[in-house]
Amino acid sequence: MTDNYDALIIGTGVIGTAIAFEMAKAGWKTLSLDRNTQIGHGSTAGSCAIIRMHYSTFDGTAFAWEGYHYWRDWADYLGLPNDADLARFKECGCLVMKTEQNEHMQKHLENSRALGIPVEEWSDEQIKAKLPIYSLDSFAPARRMDDPQFAQPNGAKLKSGVFWPLAGYVSDPALSSQNMADAARLHGAKFRMGIQVVDVLQSGGKVAGVQLADGEEIHAPVVVNVAGPGSAAINEIAGVLDDMTIKTRPLRQEVVHVPSPAGFDFEELGTIVSDSDIACYARPEHGNHILVGSEDPEFDAHCWVNNDTDFDRDFTDQWTTQAMRYAQRVPSLGIPSKTRGVVDLYDASTDWIPIYDKSSLGGYYMACGSSGNQYKNAPIAGKMMTALIDYCEGGKNHDAEPLQFRLPYIGRVIDVGFYSRNRPINDESSFSVLG
Ligand SMILES: Cc1cc2nc3c(=O)[nH]c(=O)nc-3n(C[C@H](O)[C@H](O)[C@H](O)COP(=O)(O)OP(=O)(O)OC[C@H]3O[C@@H](n4cnc5c(N)ncnc54)[C@H](O)[C@@H]3O)c2cc1C
Repeated sequence: MTDNYDALIIGTGVIGTAIAFEMAKAGWKTLSLDRNTQIGHGSTAGSCAIIRMHYSTFDGTAFAWEGYHYWRDWADYLGLPNDADLARFKECGCLVMKTEQNEHMQKHLENSRALGIPVEEWSDEQIKAKLPIYSLDSFAPARRMDDPQFAQPNGAKLKSGVFWPLAGYVSDPALSSQNMADAARLHGAKFRMGIQVVDVLQSGGKVAGVQLADGEEIHAPVVVNVAGPGSAAINEIAGVLDDMTIKTRPLRQEVVHVPSPAGFDFEELGTIVSDSDIACYARPEHGNHILVGSEDPEFDAHCWVNNDTDFDRDFTDQWTTQAMRYAQRVPSLGIPSKTRGVVDLYDASTDWIPIYDKSSLGGYYMACGSSGNQYKNAPIAGKMMTALIDYCEGGKNHDAEPLQFRLPYIGRVIDVGFYSRNRPINDESSFSVLG
């Protein structure tokens, strides 16, 4: 034992560092631990870091709308010295194509309007004016490349979309974690890198700390599991899986980077696009590239991973499928023979909604199951987890009487039980990265 800490935080990704920052500000003496040698270099570094406001559920929409404001006010939120190198939020907007698959976005529009989120309905002319490289032929249902009907238009056209002008993305997600770690250090938070947690210690029916791979024990009355795709392994060694109806599991993802077609500056003029007609999302990427991710259609093989440190980091046919699907929308797209992009893991939950909760073990908490869609919510998740830990450590039973938490920017009170580990599976979810 090296020091006295009030809380240990496993993981220094964007959510782990947000929790460290918020707990340190609230007076907790925290130590964050990570097996990586650099902060933010778990799944956060591979994130597309899209900050959007539309979610399938009302609660998810409210949380994401709150989350946007921290990126907008990033420098003020952190309070770092003026010369600090900060991650940048690029507010390029987000267009979602209206399709039968997403029921023409009616529910999303209603949720956004009810919350006062700026949103516009766009005609096909407006879409073409923004994205002149786009063809609006419909190809639904999205298909695999080996399907004989792949890339055959179905005769219909996409007619309209919904545009959220305040959406955007963060150019360097690992740097955003490092920014929050630096901000946390100003409030006394400590970080130890390059050490692996192999056991969760218990005493008298409560958590007592962690054990590291070299046998060292670090003791504290509170432990927070923010291990990203490693969360299930930590929950297992903590012995807390039994009362969880919602489980977490690492899911491999490939993200494509391709150059924008000649003559169009997608990096400057493009926008984020979610397009269920071809089951792809896209956003501008550094170097006038276009980043293309998958919206996880059911018939694409889902590549679940058993070991979150040992998985195939090479591109597969999935890269080509995504690039070819996107080329249906952008016929002038050149697909280079040299594959570029990212291979990383989601920490997918049973219903693709995260778990922000206590556990059956006193003093042990979890912020996990971020399902490819919680980067944007990290700062508000940090605040909410701090309030939840204060509430439970103050003697309240969050399972019986869930914490009601006020989202500071938008002034709404939410029931934190929405994110419970033992909630019923939420049928309103898209059961995909869209949340
Ligand atoms: C390809 C991809 C695209 C994405 N795109 C978006 C997007 O556009 N918008 C969005 O909102 N979200 C997106 N996400 C999701 C988002 O990136 C994650 O929700 C977020 O980064 C998770 O942060 P985290 O802090 O929980 O986990 P991580 O960043 O994964 O951090 C967990 C840390 O825990 C450490 N750890 C694990 N086990 C141990 C152990 N036993 N001992 C010590 N350390 C341990 C790891 O080393 C790691 O650093 C995407 C994710 C991926 C993979």
